[in-house]
Amino acid sequence: MIKLQNITKSFGRLQVLKGIDLVVEKGEVVAILGPSGSGKTTLLRCINYLEKPSDGEITIDDFTVNCKRPSKKDIHTLRGKTAMVFQQYNLFRHKTALENVMEGLVVVQKVEKEEARRRSIELLEKVGLGNKLNAYPSQLSGGQQQRVGIARALALNPEVILFDEPTSALDPELVGEVLAVIRNIAKEGITMIIVTHEMGFAHDVANHVVFMDEGIIVEEGKPNDIFVSPKEERTKQFLKRIT
Ligand code: ADP
Repeated sequence: MIKLQNITKSFGRLQVLKGIDLVVEKGEVVAILGPSGSGKTTLLRCINYLEKPSDGEITIDDFTVNCKRPSKKDIHTLRGKTAMVFQQYNLFRHKTALENVMEGLVVVQKVEKEEARRRSIELLEKVGLGNKLNAYPSQLSGGQQQRVGIARALALNPEVILFDEPTSALDPELVGEVLAVIRNIAKEGITMIIVTHEMGFAHDVANHVVFMDEGIIVEEGKPNDIFVSPKEERTKQFLKRIT
């Protein structure tokens, strides 16, 4: 279980997150929606301390970080429980697909190299890249690179995978293959939090939808609560604009 309590974040004088409370149950797939600039990516990045929250508490399982005074060890432990899939993939350019997936296992988790290789091959096969193990990122399409990013996140066996607009950098014809991979791993009961603009995907795949605007959670619920019968005017307006 993940629990965010009163997460706030300012950049200079701009308060981007105004006290976010959110509970995510184990195995849930959470979609975070909202207009550009509403704080979705910042919230996601706060969960693994890529951004330092100004205040609040983050709990993953039974481990809580008080964001006012976290120790280095707290941040390290928190990061060990999460994996992130980035908009721009963030692969090592000079490493092959296989090496990219192995890296975290060998360097961070100190898994023995042969074991890391075996697990990484398995995961690359799972995302449909069994024939691209030795390809470098420059030899892969955007969709394939993002699938390497997903295999890399899975390899870490995290408590939660955080997806930051995983398809927004892709050409439209490549979006489907990445969403299909995410859809597949969602079935396995891995907890996932996904910032996305793909409304159809969020409706189908998520079991918990969060609508944010101007640094707060305006409304959250089951997909049908939000997409079919939203209660808040701001949610209705947003959905009207984008569908
Ligand atoms: P969203 O993901 O909903 O589009 P973001 O979380 O990316 O929103 O951004 C929320 C607000 O925070 C925006 O106004 C953005 O310009 C600002 N912001 C995000 N990151 C930074 C940063 N590193 N420095 C200053 N302002 C930032």
